[in-house]
Amino acid sequence: MLEKNVDFAVYTKTTPNEEGFFGTYGGSFIPPQLVGEFEKISTAYHTICKSSKFINELRRIRKEFQGRPTPVCHCERLSNSISHCQIYLKREDLNHTGAHKLNHCMGEGLLAKYLGKKKVIAETGAGQHGVALATAAAYFGLECDIYMGEVDIAKQAPNVARMKLLGAKVIPVSHGLKTLKEAVDAAFEAYMGDFEDTIYCIGSVVGPHPFPVMVRDFQAVVGIEAKEQFMDMTGELPDAVVACVGGGSNAVGLMSAFLNDPVKLYGVEPLGKGTKLGEHAASMTYGSEGVMHGFNSIMLKDENGDPAPVHSIASGLDYPSVGPEHAYLHDLGRVQYMTATDDEAIEAFSTLSKLEGIIPALESAHAVAYAMKLAKEMGLGSILINLSGRGDKDLEYVIENYGDRLGLK
Ligand SMILES: *Cc1c(COP(=O)(O)O)cnc(C)c1O
Repeated sequence: MLEKNVDFAVYTKTTPNEEGFFGTYGGSFIPPQLVGEFEKISTAYHTICKSSKFINELRRIRKEFQGRPTPVCHCERLSNSISHCQIYLKREDLNHTGAHKLNHCMGEGLLAKYLGKKKVIAETGAGQHGVALATAAAYFGLECDIYMGEVDIAKQAPNVARMKLLGAKVIPVSHGLKTLKEAVDAAFEAYMGDFEDTIYCIGSVVGPHPFPVMVRDFQAVVGIEAKEQFMDMTGELPDAVVACVGGGSNAVGLMSAFLNDPVKLYGVEPLGKGTKLGEHAASMTYGSEGVMHGFNSIMLKDENGDPAPVHSIASGLDYPSVGPEHAYLHDLGRVQYMTATDDEAIEAFSTLSKLEGIIPALESAHAVAYAMKLAKEMGLGSILINLSGRGDKDLEYVIENYGDRLGLK
């Protein structure tokens, strides 16, 4: 199963293979009536997305609309509070809309435009993917249908309002548990009935081929920028790169630039409240191989083999599987997968705010939490963290649940 002689100098050009397999992971497990449409998207990825016209347009959008490149910054006070190891952040919190997700949503939106689609469609849990996609749809003048469970709609009022303000239609899903799982099913069903005019925009490096590779390549800008910026600032490579892993898009985006370098790579999964099934969403650490949502990867299963219930304080990490490329990089031993608990993330959320004046997203706080441990262990050297998003969206939740502990009340 394990390919021994992987050449990381050419890896991103040769992986996945033409069927979308990273080793045995990935692929495309979809209903027969969608096979032709996904082949079209796959061909478009190899032709349109690689054309100089598309690339130039996306570069202009990144600069003018998203405010890229986002900076890399040195955390002097945080570093000095731990050891001699120097910590740096790639500031995706400063990307337009406050997180890395817009990087792939703008790519997907531009592709939709080139394919002559009228509408983009997706599901959303906490609303972050929905807001990023609604932003892209507004920019490109596309209709946008976002499916969302009624329970999530009630919980995430500000993001629902954002999506509506941006011109998207938020479609409530009222069956079953009325959360993300049902929203995925409803969005997919709507897509099956309307794929000629519509494209289903996946929110991470997950789903059937070509989405894992396409989203990775749209997020690769993070790594390309960060490597050059870090070298410019320090004259050398970082010793370690750390990123949080939900589906895995911000992690693989940053890591893809360092795969062929002598740099240690760490993905950080949410350990939530503990190691029992249902208390966490550490899919790589505790999961096993299986197919869900159209791809083969490592996933957390319940007693029936279905996707298990998961928990994390960071709603963007709350996913019972992981992108197929991460499963492959794990098997190859190129990336190590670690965990951080809810409590560790909250601690890091508070520490980074106090010592650096940067309030991180609770997702990104998992990466900061593990990097703080690693800095202590390393004592010397340097760590580059992907600060995938800003934490303003999490404040209300943090005040309500941790306000006393953090002295916010
Ligand atoms: C959605 C989200 C994540 C998790 O998604 P990945 O695909 O694993 O990157 C991480 N950080 C932020 C800020 C997010 O919004």
